[in-house]
Amino acid sequence: MIVRQFTCRVVLNTHLRKLRGIQDMARPSSDVAAFREIFSKANSIAVITGAGVSAESGVPTFRGAGGYWRKWNAQDLATPEAFSLNPSRVWEFYHYRREVMLTKDPNPAHLALAECEERLGKQGRRVTVITQNIDELHRRAGSKNLLEIHGSLFKTRCMTCGHEAADHRSPICAALKGKGAPEPETHDAQIPVEQLPRCEQRGCNGLLRPAVVWFGETLDSDILSRAEQVLDSCDLCLVVGTSSVVYPAAMFAPQVAARGVPVAEFNMENTPATERFKFHFHGPCGTTLPPVLARHESEGM
Ligand SMILES: [Zn+2]
Repeated sequence: MIVRQFTCRVVLNTHLRKLRGIQDMARPSSDVAAFREIFSKANSIAVITGAGVSAESGVPTFRGAGGYWRKWNAQDLATPEAFSLNPSRVWEFYHYRREVMLTKDPNPAHLALAECEERLGKQGRRVTVITQNIDELHRRAGSKNLLEIHGSLFKTRCMTCGHEAADHRSPICAALKGKGAPEPETHDAQIPVEQLPRCEQRGCNGLLRPAVVWFGETLDSDILSRAEQVLDSCDLCLVVGTSSVVYPAAMFAPQVAARGVPVAEFNMENTPATERFKFHFHGPCGTTLPPVLARHESEGM
């Protein structure tokens, strides 16, 4: 029954495509069977993920309407200027965001990508996730080939010696315990700078900052060149939870498409119709992604 429905849909899609003719050329396709055919032959899949994937796990972004922490949004606090003016306030904001993540879990989109990476890895095929998300949900889901182009909420960088370290402690330092409440009437904790997170490298004790890329900062050149390598060699590109014409995917997806490599978008947005991007799957990526990345019949068991 399921097989038959599937076949009917393929035939119908082919028929519609013939009817639409040239119009269809300018529109990304949502033909699952056509995508699966390409997916089954892909050896190197680049996956670019954005805020939409995190949003489906309930992770707040502090952007747009209602996206406030106290009376600020991310653009006010995620800057080098804000940190140098008020490191205590910025650390409260990041402490809050770290604590929130203790209550969030990877969703089916994160899990499908991680499962696909592991499965294809055993077949000598490669899946690499390039994400702007800083919440480590891809990592927690099990993704290993992961390029976090905006850094991580759970990494610190020393302002003095530059040392970067993973840090998952809760709270990250004693002075931040119980701080970081998001309500607009909350007063700043005004934690003395010497009680904020400090570098534990021998003899340093420099002030630590979150190792995330703030507004106005450039991306890490090493991570960026690794992302470029992945994009230059991939034979299929997925854009998940963001649009391929919006940053960060807009930096990457057009160059992939220009090589003639299929690009498939999975998001909630209506994208500008463009023939450069072959597929568009509309809806929550936790719903659209798992079935298209499931084991293909050509993979064997
Ligand atoms: Zn240091």
